Amino acid sequence: MLTQNLGYPRIGEQRELKKACEQYWAGKMALTELHRVAQKIKEENWLTQLNAGIDIIPCNDFSFYDHVLDTSLLLGVIPQRYAPVLAQDGDHAETDLYFAMARGYQRNGLDITAMEMTKWLDTNYHYIVPEFTAQQEFSIYNENIFAEYTTARRLLGQKAKPVLVGPVSYLLLGKEKEQGFERIDLLEKLIPVYIEILNRLGALGAEWIQLDEPCLALDLSKKEEEAFEAAYRAIAGQVGGVRLMVATYFEALLDNTSLAVNLPVEALHIDLVRGPEQLDEVLALVPDGLLLSLGVVDGRNVWKNDYEKSLSLIYRAVEKLGAKRVIVAPSCSLLHSPIDLDLETALDPEIKNWMAFARQKLGEVDALRQILEGNNTLLEANRKAIESRRTSQKVHRQAVKDRVAALTEADATRASAFPVRQRIQRERFHLPSFPTTTIGSFPQTDDIRQLRARFKKGDLTVEQYEKSIEQATIDAIRWQEEIGLDVLVHGEFERNDMVEYFGEQLEGFLFTKNGWVQSYGSRCVKPPVIYGDISRPKDMTVRWSTFAAAQTDRPMKGMLTGPVTILQWSFVRDDQPREVTTNQIAFAVHDEVLALEQAGIGMIQIDEAAIREGLPLRKARRPHYLDWAVKAFRITAGGVQDRTQIHTHMCYSEFNDIIEHIAAMDADVITIETSRSQMELLQAFAHFEYPNEIGPGVYDIHSPRVPGTEEMTSLLGRAADLLPAENLWVNPDCGLKTRKWPETKAALENMVAAARQAREQI
Ligand code: GLN
Ligand code: ZN
Repeated sequence: MLTQNLGYPRIGEQRELKKACEQYWAGKMALTELHRVAQKIKEENWLTQLNAGIDIIPCNDFSFYDHVLDTSLLLGVIPQRYAPVLAQDGDHAETDLYFAMARGYQRNGLDITAMEMTKWLDTNYHYIVPEFTAQQEFSIYNENIFAEYTTARRLLGQKAKPVLVGPVSYLLLGKEKEQGFERIDLLEKLIPVYIEILNRLGALGAEWIQLDEPCLALDLSKKEEEAFEAAYRAIAGQVGGVRLMVATYFEALLDNTSLAVNLPVEALHIDLVRGPEQLDEVLALVPDGLLLSLGVVDGRNVWKNDYEKSLSLIYRAVEKLGAKRVIVAPSCSLLHSPIDLDLETALDPEIKNWMAFARQKLGEVDALRQILEGNNTLLEANRKAIESRRTSQKVHRQAVKDRVAALTEADATRASAFPVRQRIQRERFHLPSFPTTTIGSFPQTDDIRQLRARFKKGDLTVEQYEKSIEQATIDAIRWQEEIGLDVLVHGEFERNDMVEYFGEQLEGFLFTKNGWVQSYGSRCVKPPVIYGDISRPKDMTVRWSTFAAAQTDRPMKGMLTGPVTILQWSFVRDDQPREVTTNQIAFAVHDEVLALEQAGIGMIQIDEAAIREGLPLRKARRPHYLDWAVKAFRITAGGVQDRTQIHTHMCYSEFNDIIEHIAAMDADVITIETSRSQMELLQAFAHFEYPNEIGPGVYDIHSPRVPGTEEMTSLLGRAADLLPAENLWVNPDCGLKTRKWPETKAALENMVAAARQAREQI
């Protein structure tokens, strides 16, 4: 039986690639040095996989920024606006073009915007969206894939397997940049270029080539299904001498099973972590000769594989196909896992023994093969680790389980309906129409960051640290009063990150030292790990919220992160449904809401920035998710007094298809990101006749640009055309932590002026 890997993290064990790229961008590193760093990471990765005993090892999975962008360059899909960068010559030209497409270009008198970036399916990895035109042409533009394969082959021999995004998914994951055509119709022009690439790789000696077609696991139209058939029929007819493998992941094939197994390729990879239930149907439909790659080791989480569970899946496949037609693999590219658990020297050894990062996952793939070949010693240690996690008191806390199990509708219900609450709250707060507020954070200056870092290192005492944070908070409050904001925030100076801050105070979470995962380009995140039942041993935010509230007569919002967002931005447990974990977090947040309420905080904002991100890839699975996600939010506000105003905030999202669920959250006030869409996103709320109060963001916080008063007044006018003016709030799009003070002050002063104009004019 063979083993394979689909892709390996490319950031480097110590985030060497991030550091090198950032230095190169800052003009502090030579191009040759950047390439040297990259070459070293690639070689280390290949050797790691070779030493782990993997038979088929990916290459061309490395990328300086993003592998979809690499594919665009390979295929010559370069938007016209980069022509001036393209026209430059010199050693840097090609790299400049590449990074210009990724990050925009402001040099030599040119000012060219970056390409759009979006989430890679349901992961937190972001790719650069290919841009297509009606007259789009394709040709091999960049030769990197051939060079990389040649190098990999020198090291790995026949084991080296080039990986590229498959032609259909490549088109589907891109965007039409002009009207009058459908990108899928470009397939006819695209396929010949793929054929040429595959044949060239074959000529260089490639035995296997992996084509990633994640879209095969999504809802497909008839036309898209036909596109898959046509594409692979054409490829099979004209590519010789290589073995093609189509890789799917993140979902089960479901209704696309027959389509997928009948593609004329040599092997098909399926994700048995996300979709273990698909195995039977796949096995029933697999035609003679097709090899099946079983993704049994979770490529997107940090837990040790349960060998018995994996083996039971593998045995079923072996029984039907024979060992020679089965390949064992991680569920998807390991790009989404942290790199090496061995680097975590500070973890609780009991919990560490339940975990596996990318390097350990390779070991698991190899171990599964060895066990199948009769080496049972490996099974015993695994069984023990799995059993230890299943029964550990660090994971299982009965009181937490009981509370979630006893959940009733009453836990998720406010005392009165919104109209009653709204009247009571209006009497309590006496706000003007178009009340002004902000989303929570204020600029995290170097001073503030250093303060937290020094405190963490032990260079500051608690008193010294708190005194400084108090001062920053007081300054921010005085300043909010001066410019005339109506509802204040404390500024979140004590918080590093909106999830980590809560995770650090909740039981059931742990933090790694080096568990970085690429989010986009050089940006990496280090998600907390939820390993056990979650509880809240003590108040988390009351100290700072009450301190802030005491500094002013104006309403001060308490600031919390919602349960779905905490779940979504963490590595989660795989031993219970996500909804159970979410409900545990929801109860903890609920208790914090009550503590704030009791401490006299009248407005509490529970951010659910990531609710849309959690949406399942397949439409059929969405209603269930939305039900529990909304319910979790309602638990946080359940039983809260009518006079307490619950706010929520959501970052940029499409609301059309989820508006009824947003409404079901029943927050008294929701603030959303809308300014870049010119209030377009409010349409969904208007159509739905959204009844509660709403603050559509009036300015984009992602850029230092200071918006003028008139501009914001006019956006408010547009909002008032769509929704009752008496329900509208005035606020920026999102938190201001990434901004600098000067632009923040100027922008908020203009915003307050815009609200005043609106009060007179609208
Ligand atoms: N309250 C958070 C802040 O202002 C919300 C951030 C977010 O929505 N991403 O920073
Ligand atoms: Zn936001």
